[in-house]
Amino acid sequence: MTTDLASTYTVSNNIVLTGFMGTGKTTIGRLLAARLNRTFIDMDDQLEAQFGKPIREVFAQDGEGVFRTAEAQLCAQLAQQTGLVISTGGGALVSAENRAALAASGVLLCLTANVDEVLRRVATTGERPLLNVPEAEQRKRINELLDSRRTAYAAIPHQIDTNGQTPEAIVEQIWETLQGDAEVSGMTRLAVQGPTERYHICIGEGILHQAGQLLRNRGLRPGPAAVVTNAMIAPHHGEHLLASLRSAGYEPTLCLLPEGEQHKTLESIASLYEQFLDAGLDRHSPVIALGGGVIGDMTGFAAATYLRGTPFVQIPTTLLSMVDASVGGKTGVDLPQGKNLVGAFKQPHVVLIDVDVLETLPAAEFRSGLAEVIKHGIIGAPDLFIQFEGQGPASVKHLVTEAVRVKIKVVEEDPFEQGRRATLNLGHTFGHAMEQVSNFSIRHGEGVAVGMVAATYMAAAIGRCDASLVERVRTVLDRVGLPTSLPGYDVEAVIEAMGHDKKRAGKMLRFVIPQALGDVVVIDNPGMNYVVDALEQVLR
Ligand code: NAD
Repeated sequence: MTTDLASTYTVSNNIVLTGFMGTGKTTIGRLLAARLNRTFIDMDDQLEAQFGKPIREVFAQDGEGVFRTAEAQLCAQLAQQTGLVISTGGGALVSAENRAALAASGVLLCLTANVDEVLRRVATTGERPLLNVPEAEQRKRINELLDSRRTAYAAIPHQIDTNGQTPEAIVEQIWETLQGDAEVSGMTRLAVQGPTERYHICIGEGILHQAGQLLRNRGLRPGPAAVVTNAMIAPHHGEHLLASLRSAGYEPTLCLLPEGEQHKTLESIASLYEQFLDAGLDRHSPVIALGGGVIGDMTGFAAATYLRGTPFVQIPTTLLSMVDASVGGKTGVDLPQGKNLVGAFKQPHVVLIDVDVLETLPAAEFRSGLAEVIKHGIIGAPDLFIQFEGQGPASVKHLVTEAVRVKIKVVEEDPFEQGRRATLNLGHTFGHAMEQVSNFSIRHGEGVAVGMVAATYMAAAIGRCDASLVERVRTVLDRVGLPTSLPGYDVEAVIEAMGHDKKRAGKMLRFVIPQALGDVVVIDNPGMNYVVDALEQVLR
């Protein structure tokens, strides 16, 4: 591996790492340079040597302006050299001139980390001149700085996610980026460690047009391939995907399924097998799902079973399927007796999330997906939740990325749904029952939204979380246009729909409740009075 990268990049390209404080620029740069046998330049070290004092003192005594001027000069000098691995200071490439100078000398990569990770890392590393505030204000300060630099960082062609990753894994990611995906700009790539294999979730704007290349980069054999979708999605996005696949050497066949959850059946799977045979697919042919959770679940199941398994690619087109259904490998179909009763775990080979496809998604579907995004915020991304309380996340890409991270973390811990994964059901016990009682006239996301309010209320009532969280959850859901109550529904009927009617007394009732933002637990049989109280709160 080392030799490959070294031979591709030794000639002239500098490799320039930038990113916010605490993203590991120096550690990663040093490791990468050692691995490639290149000279490593840490710009901040050089500038300290030049000034003869720590940067913190340059800021305090000479002012930030003096420092930035010296930094710009150093960028210009380094751009004249070749074959380096350069780690810049966190603010160096905020300047478009510095970016342009170094971009002309090689490849720029931006290391990213979310606020929680940055806080954790800066607590254990040296002083940061721009983080010169009391500890309690650090989160706010980091958010302000990140906001002011977001556009500049987003302009760096390659984004390397470092959250929860070891330095070695990050170097590996950089290696993969330089090797394969270098031509797809602005794409964020998250790695998922599946039970047996590692795969990528690629998130970007417009990456559907590069799907063919991204599949080739991952070793998927050119030749016959299937694109499974439905008649609502195909007219918007089918042709773009097919064109991209063709240009990368695939011979794709469009396989259509009827639209709607009512067709998530074994009959539809049988029809897919026939279409795959007609298309001449063999065991190495990629099977690509282009659609929401319904298409993704069915295509995954067909890919898991056709010829005992073919490579499976997820291209989710709803917000729900981007942040939830496409990650984690659960696939399957419904039976007349219930939802998702037949299925298989089938990990995707890669997940391609092009947030631009959401432009054609009906607004109500988008809103429904936001319930899952907010749910992921409560489960494991407090910062994302806090953004909803403020101006809202900076972009759709950002909110999808942060929500996906939560799902990745949970499924990595519990790939076969034996424990932790149950926390993803926050709001679902109440929500599903309400969906049922409404005869499915409310959307899944709406049920989950009201269910989350009920679950938080219950958590507060039994003393597991601060009462203020109920209002916070309610406010955020309300802001994005999701319901927080369903007046007029019958409490008894909802309890019955939870499977807790009198005939089945004693059956366990399981709920996921928040203890705080980012901290949820599963509880069993909390006591019927709490369940009734919580329902009365949201059904009044
Ligand atoms: P969906 O797949 O039914 O899609 C919603 C609607 O939007 C459909 O009418 C679809 O044709 C249309 N659509 C999709 N993308 C579009 C686009 N970009 N432009 C225009 N129209 C578009 O619904 P969903 O919410 O994505 O998925 C629900 C399914 O996901 C359920 O069957 C559920 O069981 C499953 N699910 C699976 C998992 C998992 O882990 N596998 C997790 C959660 C949900």
